[in-house]
Amino acid sequence: MEEKGTISIHTENIFPVIKKFLYSDNEIFLRELVSNAVDASQKIKRLSSLGQFQGEVGDVTVDVKLDEAAKTITISDRGIGMTAEEIKKYINQVAFSGATEFMEKFKEANDANEIIGRFGLGFYSAFMVADRVEIDSLSYQDGAVSAHWTCDGSTSYEISAGTRTDRGTDVILHINEESAEFLSQNRISEILNKYARFLPVPVRFGTKTESQPDGEDEEGKPKYTSVEVDNIINNTNPAWTKAPADLTDEDYLAFYRELYPYSMDEPLFWIHLNVDYPFNLTGILYFPKVKNEMDIQRNKIQLYSRQVFITEEVKDIVPEFLMLLQGVIDSPDIPLNVSRSFLQADSNVKKINNYITRKVADKLNEIFKQDRKNFEEKWNDISLFIKYGMLSDEKFAEKANDFCLIENTAKESYTLKEYYEKVKDIQVDKDGNIIYLYSSDVAQQDSFIASAKAKGYDVLVLDGQLDTHFVGYLEQKGGEKIQAKRVDADTIDKLIQKDEKVELVLSEEESKQASSIFEKAISRADMKVEIEALATDELPVSVTMDEFMRRMKDMAKTGGGGMGFYGTIPDSYKVTVNGNHPLVKRILESTEQEGEQLAKQAFDLALLSRGLLTGADLTSFVKRSVELI
Ligand code: ADP
Repeated sequence: MEEKGTISIHTENIFPVIKKFLYSDNEIFLRELVSNAVDASQKIKRLSSLGQFQGEVGDVTVDVKLDEAAKTITISDRGIGMTAEEIKKYINQVAFSGATEFMEKFKEANDANEIIGRFGLGFYSAFMVADRVEIDSLSYQDGAVSAHWTCDGSTSYEISAGTRTDRGTDVILHINEESAEFLSQNRISEILNKYARFLPVPVRFGTKTESQPDGEDEEGKPKYTSVEVDNIINNTNPAWTKAPADLTDEDYLAFYRELYPYSMDEPLFWIHLNVDYPFNLTGILYFPKVKNEMDIQRNKIQLYSRQVFITEEVKDIVPEFLMLLQGVIDSPDIPLNVSRSFLQADSNVKKINNYITRKVADKLNEIFKQDRKNFEEKWNDISLFIKYGMLSDEKFAEKANDFCLIENTAKESYTLKEYYEKVKDIQVDKDGNIIYLYSSDVAQQDSFIASAKAKGYDVLVLDGQLDTHFVGYLEQKGGEKIQAKRVDADTIDKLIQKDEKVELVLSEEESKQASSIFEKAISRADMKVEIEALATDELPVSVTMDEFMRRMKDMAKTGGGGMGFYGTIPDSYKVTVNGNHPLVKRILESTEQEGEQLAKQAFDLALLSRGLLTGADLTSFVKRSVELI
């Protein structure tokens, strides 16, 4: 019985087109064929459990075999198999109709990207790497005879009697010249490792040698021989497919190590995702210690569909700020083979996105409530992405307001609400604004922090990567009438202006005189001198930069939208001279030359305390200081 036929599709030259567009991704042929084999194996198990198949299911391990000499790759399963009729129906028609549709869309598409992932080319993808494909199959059905199909990728095929004597299917690929890379053991291992790691049916590739105990030698020592053992490459029961109640912490950690064998750190916490309505999704997300860019790029969230690996590009499914998480998401409801813009508009994808955000927020809240100490200890490692989430996702922010922590210079942690309560009666200015003082660099702003503390004020530490933006968030969402000011944005009494006024001991005449001495001594265009009445124990001179201006400049630096303009304005500082400090009196009473020297010295000390004294100025300061002592 031999039959030749023509596959009924309209376009003759599909292959060159498909090859061209799928070229970069042609390794997926193996994913498609192995998952077909897995599907067929699961079907026979299902039929058996439904009583529709009476025979022995037996071992359904899928075999992938590479024959470098014959230039073939064979995928064999013990699934349901296909009769000749079924091959004609499923392979010739179903598989090829995807390709036909592909060609039709291809004519309309403007962008190659629009079509590349759009059609599950399934079986057909074999022709991306093979110039001839054979199927040898025996159906599970009673009285079925084995069938053999061969096709060179053109529209004609041949069907004849097959040779398979046990149930199942062999798909034999005769690898073409350009695809010789796939005739390598390592390459196939790599592809299987990527796509087939967690398939639900065992997949075997090649053999591996293992050393096994083999009695004792003459001296009575244990003897070992190396034997060839089957190399099952997948874990058919990965943790995410199990019920959370059946998993211990150690199981979650072990699965993490399985997923990311090269990761140095253990994850901080994890969330087991499990929904079946209104969409189907399972998975485990891990919160890693975020160390550096490298780790983030290497260990990404992996997207699966029924345990078949699809991609690490989860951008549209997972909210952007959660891209720092790791782990696995498995959903048959995510349209995998559509273009990006389509994915963004898909309502399931939107729901999944919201669900994940909510779950993550709920989990963090739960940990915070149950074990605040533990949460505080891990805060440093997770604050970056929580703040990122709060700044970029309103829904997440609403929930995160309850567990987002802020820390002060004494390393005490507060929730936003707690902190508001702590400072609202003390750090209130004459207009009723609650002033949050913060430091972006505790070491460099030490003298300002000391001044604030001397007044009984508290200072927050906001020195993280996102804190320039987070300061604005605190003002808007942290409580009513909050203004955040960096401790070095002005002298402390200016930052929190109270009603009481400190009298200036200088007369108006003296004040003017002091001002001109300092202006002359400093003589810098970017420094504006102001004489102010401060407490006598405040420093004689301080150098500050206005909160608003500095913040705009910081934003410009971190690429804040529309802030570019501020980046072009040169830095400008205010030099506050404390008119009540005894030094000012002394300067006024000194000779002109001595007064200028003292003014310079006091100014340089102010610069020094902020780390602004550098270069030639620093050298002459050191020289002058030596002369003075
Ligand atoms: P899809 O898997 O998306 O349906 P494919 O082109 O990969 O598309 O396969 C087409 C059909 O051929 C499958 O639906 C299945 O009925 C049949 N088939 C493919 N491979 C096998 C196999 N190894 N065993 C049994 N049937 C198979």
